[in-house]
Amino acid sequence: MDAISNCWFSEIQDELWPGQSFSLKVKQLLHREKSKFQDIQLVETETYGRCLILDGIIQCTSRDEFSYQEMISFLPLCCHPNPEKVLIVGGGDGGVAREVVKHPMVKEVHQVEIDDRVVELSKKYLPGMACGFESNKLKLTIGDGFDYMKNHKNEFDVIITDSSDPIGPAVSLFQENYYGLLKNALKEGGIVCSQGGSFWLDCDYVKKTMNGCGLHFPKVAYAVTSVPSYPCGHIGFIIGSLDANKCLQDPVKKFDPREIDLLNLKYYTSQIHSAAFSLPRWVEKHLYS
Ligand code: SAM
Repeated sequence: MDAISNCWFSEIQDELWPGQSFSLKVKQLLHREKSKFQDIQLVETETYGRCLILDGIIQCTSRDEFSYQEMISFLPLCCHPNPEKVLIVGGGDGGVAREVVKHPMVKEVHQVEIDDRVVELSKKYLPGMACGFESNKLKLTIGDGFDYMKNHKNEFDVIITDSSDPIGPAVSLFQENYYGLLKNALKEGGIVCSQGGSFWLDCDYVKKTMNGCGLHFPKVAYAVTSVPSYPCGHIGFIIGSLDANKCLQDPVKKFDPREIDLLNLKYYTSQIHSAAFSLPRWVEKHLYS
């Protein structure tokens, strides 16, 4: 975990990505502490701006975070005809909240994040993301997402799980029974979207998580986006719909270029939405056969 050496931070994680490591040159260590749940570091990097690192794993950098935050938010929101009430699980940096509250149909956003220290430190060091917490549409609860879900039934139109990787406090958010709880917490026709890992790193794990989702949701798909500071330079999302006839590739809400500019979207467009579901042949065969 002491991965900063000679001004370089290296993301070494032998369980999740053995034998490879992405490195960033660090200008300054801004903060480091051990919270009740995890080791938290904030660093100023030479070329990726500020970076949040939890348990030695990069969560976001100010240079490329919008790709992840916009896609995990707008893919499910634009698949739903009227996403009025949304739940975010995790997302302690505030970036997903920042995006979700922009959607014109969203009236109410609830968020459950396990670690209040991630929220507080993001407000101090990552204000461009943590501005999401300032919206009066948002109600933040500090607690475990898995437990929270047990007490909420038939309540949300869309649930977004912006969790850290399946190690540490986020393990339960990748389990099959979590998808059962998500299903119960959704209203009819509801949609879920979860951080789903990279097909380059572990396509079997992506498939296993999709299968877990598929036990509860009649429609499941995997979409990807490009995030250079994540392992292998990209990340996927697992999207489930309670509507068996839903075509997740086709957004029901399409923003025109003027609306995209007004919403200050830098990555997401309706074309990118559809393209995100187009997968290399070997991945498509692996995940869907
Ligand atoms: N974009 C990031 C990624 O994919 O690496 C995730 C960013 S966000 C900082 C992840 C958040 O999930 C963290 O703030 C962490 O504290 C939170 N988290 C982890 N396990 C959780 C749980 N069981 N319930 C609620 N929040 C959780």
